[in-house]
Amino acid sequence: MILIFLGPPGAGKGTQAAHIVERYNIPQLSTGDMLRAAVAAQTPVGKKAKAVMDAGNLVSDDIVSAIVEERIEADDCAGGFLLDGFPRTDAQAEMLDVMLQKKERSVDVVIELKVDEAALLDRLNKRIEETRARGEAPRKDDTEETFKYRLQVYRDQTAPLIPFYERQGKLKDVDGMGSVDAVSAQIDAILDELGPSN
Ligand code: ADP
Repeated sequence: MILIFLGPPGAGKGTQAAHIVERYNIPQLSTGDMLRAAVAAQTPVGKKAKAVMDAGNLVSDDIVSAIVEERIEADDCAGGFLLDGFPRTDAQAEMLDVMLQKKERSVDVVIELKVDEAALLDRLNKRIEETRARGEAPRKDDTEETFKYRLQVYRDQTAPLIPFYERQGKLKDVDGMGSVDAVSAQIDAILDELGPSN
């Protein structure tokens, strides 16, 4: 099963990804996490990406696609994987289709987490507080100002993927405003419907 999570920052993609990983035993491929790891390790990609990410802008399509293409070669992706934070632009969606075609694979389902924008800022502030409570520093791009900018980037560059996947007949939407368990239950129902072969 190859699954994509779509939704604005703070929609709960990471939280729901943890549930999928456990229930379906497939890895979560978060390009945000992979890029943050590259920044922390000060790799050439990390050095290029740091300022872009801190400002809430998107890293180049070529860099991100190359990271994903390499990652999905790994053995743990043979039975499927969950993409969280990728694709984020039309170009990335096309690059993904091409890289999967080469392997005679394809995306099975795209789950859009729908959330009220007003709730997103509340969730951001909660995430910042929880991070501080753990004694960790919040992400550089988790300030209210940069978050609002990331939302704008989402609307401009990523939301157009919704009609793209709708046209492919792969889009399913989920009400992301319920409790964590209620959202997981909706996702499970969609995935169960896909059938056992997935
Ligand atoms: P969010 O909480 O906004 O969903 P992520 O952790 O997915 O955040 O991503 C954080 C940052 O990493 C993005 O703002 C962007 O700079 C970079 N990034 C992550 N995934 C991609 C991608 N697919 N294309 C371009 N940039 C990306």
